Amino acid sequence: MNRIALFGGTFDPIHNGHINLAKTAVKECNLDELVFVPNYISPFKQGSSVTPGTKRAEMIREILPTDNAFRLSSYELERARPSYTYDTLCHFRSQMEEAEIAFIIGFDSVLTVDKWYHGEDILREFPLITGVRPHVATDEGFRRIEAYREKYGSRIHVLNLKPFDASSTEIRRRIRSKESVDGLIAPEVEAYIERNKLYRVE
Ligand code: ATP
Repeated sequence: MNRIALFGGTFDPIHNGHINLAKTAVKECNLDELVFVPNYISPFKQGSSVTPGTKRAEMIREILPTDNAFRLSSYELERARPSYTYDTLCHFRSQMEEAEIAFIIGFDSVLTVDKWYHGEDILREFPLITGVRPHVATDEGFRRIEAYREKYGSRIHVLNLKPFDASSTEIRRRIRSKESVDGLIAPEVEAYIERNKLYRVE
């Protein structure tokens, strides 16, 4: 059975924290494919100035060659409306009956996944892969994971991840104020941002 994991996020832009998590997941969980699934964000969302989905996807495309297992899906972008994670997981499960579909989830989201749309079903039906993130309550996260295992029989793999301090928000801020993003994003992504003049204004 093929082992596939979906990695959802805004990826505005994709950074080395994401890539570190993704590469570790491929290795530790023996994934055949890791699929980045950028979320659709409504252009009418108040107070948001999110980069168009096509550009966020193109930045992900830049780093795909860095790991054989990396893939990109524009499934949520093409639906052109916000998608629920549970629906996306069910879609991939129905498309790939021969595969086991896992979901990669940031440690911050572990705390709330049971409150998501069909969150309890996600915890029952799909294996989760997570890894700690700096500034996120680690003890609380581990307590939640234990509780999910007991209550829903969840299969949750906590990666042996070296915490990497990066966030898209901080990277956008640095680019806006012309500070260095060395080591925080891939050079290919940095070049793309430069070519497309992204994040120069808020
Ligand atoms: P923002 O700063 O805009 O909130 P972000 O850096 O959290 O963005 P997202 O696209 O929202 O990026 O992240 C997608 C997923 O990756 C989330 O589940 C998030 O928890 C996880 N993630 C992001 N950065 C890291 C990191 N440095 N270490 C571990 N996980 C991360």
